[in-house]
Amino acid sequence: MVAQPIEKPTGAFVLSLIGGILGLIIGIVLLLIGVAFAGVLGYGGYYGYTAALMLFAGLGIWGIITAAIIIASAVKLNSYPLEHTKWSAIILVFSIIGLTGLFGIIGGIWGLVWKPHTVETMAGPMPPQPITRICTKCGRVIDENVKYCPHCGQELS
Ligand SMILES: [Zn+2]
Repeated sequence: MVAQPIEKPTGAFVLSLIGGILGLIIGIVLLLIGVAFAGVLGYGGYYGYTAALMLFAGLGIWGIITAAIIIASAVKLNSYPLEHTKWSAIILVFSIIGLTGLFGIIGGIWGLVWKPHTVETMAGPMPPQPITRICTKCGRVIDENVKYCPHCGQELS
């Protein structure tokens, strides 16, 4: 007996994905700003600024790494809804320690509390079988409930 998910945690997936993409953009912008300004100010000998801006760039790299993990987990969450607890927990943790902000946090919590409605493939009711019989005159398979054979018009008792 295999429980099959009949729906996906789409809301949690979309929010986490938005969070991940935002985090990626923020991370790239921080990294570029940090590297660009550190390069400019570095020549001026403002070592304090340079260190601060390298920290900025480092924060950007951290944002990019966490965002990549969140995006990958969001895709996994959507692909394997039955493992939603595992992937949502990863999204939540990396959204808190990363730079994705509220989207990933809400997406992660949503994925955690999300419950898939499953159907058990072996336990489901059998589809109703059409009741048929053979026409006494032409021998074709016909519905039991008809009064006359649709093929040859034979009256059926
Ligand atoms: Zn017939």
